[in-house]
Amino acid sequence: MTTLTDRRTGILVAAWLFAFGLAGAEMTFAQGNIDFTKVEIKTTKIASNFYALDGAGGAIGVLTGPDGVFIVDSQYAPLTDKIVAAIKQISDGRIRFMVNTHVHPDHTGGNENLGKLGVTILSRDQLRMRLAGGQRPAPPIALPTITYNETTTVHMNGEDVRLIPMPVAHTDGDTLVYFPTANVLMTGDFYRSVGYPFPDRANGGSLKGLLDALQAVVDLAKPDTKIIPGHGEIVNKTAVAEHKAMAIVIRDRVAAMVKAGKTADEVVAAKPTADYDAKVPQAATTSERFLRAIHAELSAAK
Ligand SMILES: [Zn+2]
Repeated sequence: MTTLTDRRTGILVAAWLFAFGLAGAEMTFAQGNIDFTKVEIKTTKIASNFYALDGAGGAIGVLTGPDGVFIVDSQYAPLTDKIVAAIKQISDGRIRFMVNTHVHPDHTGGNENLGKLGVTILSRDQLRMRLAGGQRPAPPIALPTITYNETTTVHMNGEDVRLIPMPVAHTDGDTLVYFPTANVLMTGDFYRSVGYPFPDRANGGSLKGLLDALQAVVDLAKPDTKIIPGHGEIVNKTAVAEHKAMAIVIRDRVAAMVKAGKTADEVVAAKPTADYDAKVPQAATTSERFLRAIHAELSAAK
């Protein structure tokens, strides 16, 4: 019986993600409605040899120095030329390594182009499996060549870049990337300073793991550590702690409704995020997705 329920829940969630997730609920998830010719790459200096690049899609981090360039995430394929040009403005342009924080196309879309440029791609094992499988498998050149499932360190440019697995958070292949000397944390999408949390259950994510990942950021960050989210403005650990506290309040409200036998539609209709909506950027496009993910997770656990 449990199996049947789980399977049904899984199918329902997958259908919902297809209907709403890809149609625009995740603002920069699919590339269908982005005019890439108009996208400009904005470079922000974060530390003496560390930069954040903003274009369309997930945040890119760039560590520069005599050993070559290490970057975090690849945004969309049509932007690779602009991204490479922006990196040449701040370095000698030798991009040696790129790590993917998670599998979504707004963070991995440029992998194929970077692979062809000879960049060594790193990721969690689960991310590589998802990228290589599914309905539209990525070509081999786009796949990570080095994978890990435990904390892994890349020593470059005087920095010890720590790749820290965050199991089953936004997806099941998330990595938190820590640059201790630059004093920067990059979270991928398990933390975004816009919208409500997004545990992507179709890609193995969970709210429980996402909350653990947020706590890991709070524990690791110093008061002045710059936290670069997958999307949105750069923040400090206070913002992440507040985001986690908010997620717990909303989860508990939904938990009470699940306990009372409410359906996902009834939970959405009850608007349990209402008192936060004015404070959360993109609340309107992310609230329902969050509520349905919590409902599905808690119902499956019952
Ligand atoms: Zn994502």
